[in-house]
Amino acid sequence: MISHLEQALIKNYPMIFKDIYGDPKETCMSFGIETGTGWYNLIEDACHSIQQTVDLVNHIHPEIGFFVTAAQIKEKFGGLRFYIDYHGNKTDKELQWAYAQIESAIRFAEKKSYYICDNCGDYMKYEKSEGWHYPKCVPCREERMGVLEERAHLRRLPLSDTSDTIDGGTTNEQGTRQLR
Ligand SMILES: [Zn+2]
Repeated sequence: MISHLEQALIKNYPMIFKDIYGDPKETCMSFGIETGTGWYNLIEDACHSIQQTVDLVNHIHPEIGFFVTAAQIKEKFGGLRFYIDYHGNKTDKELQWAYAQIESAIRFAEKKSYYICDNCGDYMKYEKSEGWHYPKCVPCREERMGVLEERAHLRRLPLSDTSDTIDGGTTNEQGTRQLR
């Protein structure tokens, strides 16, 4: 996701994004939100619902110190995956309604993601191509295919007399790699 929108989410929901950019050994949020920018509104809506529920729980049961953090937000098989962790003193019984509320907000965002282009945010038709669902609308897909074709074309250009550096450089006596 592009930086300024990711920053807006962090600013609005600092507790949910508490672990963002953390140590990759400890959190899957270390690389930020791993989706296209087109899903910003989906993620914002889900965070808004989560935060509303968290605030209500804290109003009713301040002793719990309840909060929710994002464990990983990514695209998988064409859909949004939004994983969370619950924190606070253990009171599972009292919090069943809150868990249900939060999980339904997340499931709703994940469901909607199949119908929203992850690049431009427009509604699109859900379709699988060759068994894969690709989360982009037709214009975004065509634009992307154009870029890919252009790259493929560039790779097919005949190599010039720099072909001897195709491996990216040489190794000097100290054993360090040098690019020419
Ligand atoms: Zn699009």
